[in-house]
Amino acid sequence: MAHNGIDVAGLAAAVTGHVAVPGDDGYDAECATYNPYTPLRPAVVVGAVSGRDVALAIRFAGEHGLPVGTVTTGHQARGVDGGVLINLRRLNRVSVDLEARTARVGGGALWAEVLAATTPHGLAPVHGSAPGVGATGYLLGGGQSPTLGRRHGYGADTIRSVEIVTADGSARRVTADSDPDLFFAVRGGKGNFGVVTAVEIALFPVARFYGGAVFASGADAPALLHAWRTWAPALPESATTSVAVQRLPPDPALPAPLRGAFVVALRFAYVGDPAEGEALFAPMRAVVPLLVDGVLDRPYAEVGLIHADPPGPLPYVDRTAGLRELPAEAVDALLALIGPGTDCPLAGVELRALGGALDRQPEPPNAVATRGMPFVLFGFGVGGPDALPGLRSHLARVTDAVAPWAHDRKMVNFMSASDENDVRAAYGDEIFERLAKIKQVYDPENLFRANHNIPPG
Ligand SMILES: Cc1cc2nc3c(=O)[nH]c(=O)nc-3n(C[C@H](O)[C@H](O)[C@H](O)COP(=O)(O)OP(=O)(O)OC[C@H]3O[C@@H](n4cnc5c(N)ncnc54)[C@H](O)[C@@H]3O)c2cc1C
Repeated sequence: MAHNGIDVAGLAAAVTGHVAVPGDDGYDAECATYNPYTPLRPAVVVGAVSGRDVALAIRFAGEHGLPVGTVTTGHQARGVDGGVLINLRRLNRVSVDLEARTARVGGGALWAEVLAATTPHGLAPVHGSAPGVGATGYLLGGGQSPTLGRRHGYGADTIRSVEIVTADGSARRVTADSDPDLFFAVRGGKGNFGVVTAVEIALFPVARFYGGAVFASGADAPALLHAWRTWAPALPESATTSVAVQRLPPDPALPAPLRGAFVVALRFAYVGDPAEGEALFAPMRAVVPLLVDGVLDRPYAEVGLIHADPPGPLPYVDRTAGLRELPAEAVDALLALIGPGTDCPLAGVELRALGGALDRQPEPPNAVATRGMPFVLFGFGVGGPDALPGLRSHLARVTDAVAPWAHDRKMVNFMSASDENDVRAAYGDEIFERLAKIKQVYDPENLFRANHNIPPG
């Protein structure tokens, strides 16, 4: 069993899970990504079933001088051509400690699997908008929640310990006390420091929320966005909101007024007394006529309905920008490219309001670099290869249009897998240089470079 002169027979014999090289049965399935525009073509893929498999794969890569990448969903996977890919999807065990209010989450578990284990107990993690996203990938990149972040911080702030296999192939349980530098780095530094086989996170008592999304005609986007701009920053920390201008597909699963429609979606979540949530949201219900009103008191298990992100797979390109402010001129600049009467080809452009606990450094501090950023913008376009140049150039026009108000950092989790990104700028010099020094200690050969890379320095 060999590929490009690399003999993987010994690895295949040692690993309990599945090992495949190009042309083998199962290779394509192990390498599959959510987005076909970010394909993964490694020399060898290991479908790991244990931390031991992960360690064997990393040692094999180290011996052959090959880069290592991971895939759980492939939402943000970076090319690992000719290297070793570790599919983590089978490391999806979730166990909940009710007394400590923590969960131990396998490195390949999805948020849907974590929520299924916690919500029956009236507990929730600081999860993201899409239940289909990998929990560990989200947590390691910061992790901005549509419900709990403004109250409890970034997902990374809730990490108590990580079980990680570093570049030397050794498995460690890393805490604030055991390895302070590595604990700083993994909480925000994403996959640069090793492969995380499990992570222990805090859970919070929450059984219900008041929220969901309302939709209005895209023609009303100017009125709604301008109202949102001043309403959102005044909300208490128990409330979270985002707004998205969307060109929806003609999907029969969508309710009739939304099918194939140009709309603006206003998302809201309030964790607390539903009557208080209703009162906070009332001003926005009155701004423009609503096509669909889906903001109501809900069991926590319905959190995925706030954003109703497409379950995929989806051929898309995306871009993000952080904003340091959102004056009326910035909203107008955006609307001139994505609002009514424009030729905008993008499926969605959204603004999320941040703030609250997201601005506070946890104890001990971590590598999340976007504290103090009040808004994040994310846009994406869906289409075949012929549409790509138009989608990419419109995304660039959108981020250029908000450049006068751009923050100098970017949210790592929203950085495109397909486009080049300035990783140093996303973290800022100080955090980037600290991470590079820690990388020099734990991954001096930059084995983990199939990612938004922080080279050893
Ligand atoms: C529909 C959608 C909604 C989203 N909503 C949010 C949101 O609300 N808030 C937010 O913060 N982000 C959000 N994201 C971004 C998401 O958190 C990132 O894309 C994240 O990287 C996805 O992780 P994954 O494991 O699913 O993807 P993958 O592509 O499988 O992994 C991405 C990268 O993460 C790293 N990684 C993942 N798992 C591990 C591990 N166990 N050990 C080491 N490195 C690892 C690797 O570098 C890997 O290349 C969203 C993404 C999508 C597609």
